[in-house]
Amino acid sequence: MTITTRFAPSPTGYLHVGGARTALFSWLYARKHGGKFILRIEDTDLERSTQESVNAILEGMTWLGLDYDSGPFYQTHHFDRYKEIIQQLLAQGDAYYCYCSKDELEQLRTEQMANKEKPRYNGKCRDSAEPQQEREPVIRFKNPDIGVVTIPDLVKGDIVVANKELDDLIIARADGTPTYNLTVVVDDMDMKVTHVIRGDDHINNTPRQMNILKALGAELPKYAHLPMILGPDGARLSKRHGAVSVMQFRDEGYLPEALLNYLVRLGWSHGDQEIFTIDEMVEYFELYDVNVSASTFNMEKLLWLNHQYIMNSDPAHVARHLSWHIGQLGIDPAEGPELIDVVKAQRERSKTLVEMAAASVYFYKEFDTYDEKAVKKNFTPGSDHVLARLHDELVTVTDWNGEIVHQIVVNLAETMGLNLGKVAQPLRVAVCGSGVSPAIDVTLSLLGQEKTLARIEKAINYIRTLN
Ligand code: GLU
Repeated sequence: MTITTRFAPSPTGYLHVGGARTALFSWLYARKHGGKFILRIEDTDLERSTQESVNAILEGMTWLGLDYDSGPFYQTHHFDRYKEIIQQLLAQGDAYYCYCSKDELEQLRTEQMANKEKPRYNGKCRDSAEPQQEREPVIRFKNPDIGVVTIPDLVKGDIVVANKELDDLIIARADGTPTYNLTVVVDDMDMKVTHVIRGDDHINNTPRQMNILKALGAELPKYAHLPMILGPDGARLSKRHGAVSVMQFRDEGYLPEALLNYLVRLGWSHGDQEIFTIDEMVEYFELYDVNVSASTFNMEKLLWLNHQYIMNSDPAHVARHLSWHIGQLGIDPAEGPELIDVVKAQRERSKTLVEMAAASVYFYKEFDTYDEKAVKKNFTPGSDHVLARLHDELVTVTDWNGEIVHQIVVNLAETMGLNLGKVAQPLRVAVCGSGVSPAIDVTLSLLGQEKTLARIEKAINYIRTLN
């Protein structure tokens, strides 16, 4: 038996953190067992499903690197199959037409509520529905009315639900379209899904789905219901807690591996290990290690992880992601140093790629203004003279590299009887526009001789207008 899992999002919004975590756990389980991971787009709600949302889901999956072995399948392409199964259930007596009107059902509901009963369909049409010409019927599943359903939940343990708690759910609407519980069941059966891994908001659907599967004589999958993700205030994670769309994390400068690493720890742990390579996640992941209780999303921890990944990943890999951010700033990376060298120079000080890109603009583009505070502190009277002396030295260099530049700065400070900062800081502000940059030798070697000299000249002129 091939272990088969699926991620089955409804395309009614972006791929959010909760969905991505479900996708990741399903993906990990399949990968760990050499199984199959399916992507299924549950787009039968024609009013709420959009192509944009499908695109956002696909884009999110690609960015995260959660590759699927089959799909994306679209449920809207399976309508004939759903109809066939509905007919089969009718023919074998496991489904029936229901002619109850909306008003009737509403009245039933009101009465039940008044009697403090759980609102549920009373089974009026179950055994003897008289066809009514004036009304198109819905089709209901004939749920067994005795016995129990035991969900073999791999996270929460067995969950037992009495059949009398479950009413006869609608599997086809009056217009003939199938409902969620029916379509999921048919696809899970046809796709031979062995493990249904999904959020625990679906737990109420599971016994109903299991009953339909049983009626169809299908083998039952195992289930794993994942605990909810909460925001720091204890409410279910939502937009108001900040970024929750996967692509927004890309936009805010996160590496996909950092987000994956963060997501895997949302409700799952392996000892006290915090950082996992993808291979380690695959190796260690077990559904029985998933927590039963909800987990809380912690932005600071994600930021910390991102920094770890920026510092410790292969710089070429980080550079590929940085390149997108540099592009977002309208900068052509060909106008300056290799991005991989920028990554090496900036990774200690950048928690996100947005920060790294913003702090690297001066390598590629001229700036028009200097940071005011840095000017006050470093472009003091006489600093123009220091810069002029530096220019004289730097212009003579034939083999531009960090070591030579460093030596020139150190020697000049010594010759002029100044401490190193008095030389290096005005130089830094001259070439970067602010007092913050990697070490001055690294900064200048990345910037190159031509830009360095031009910026020193510009700074000298600027200082002379000040003093
Ligand atoms: N389409 C459902 C959703 O997006 C998931 C269905 C399932 O996993 O069974 O919530």
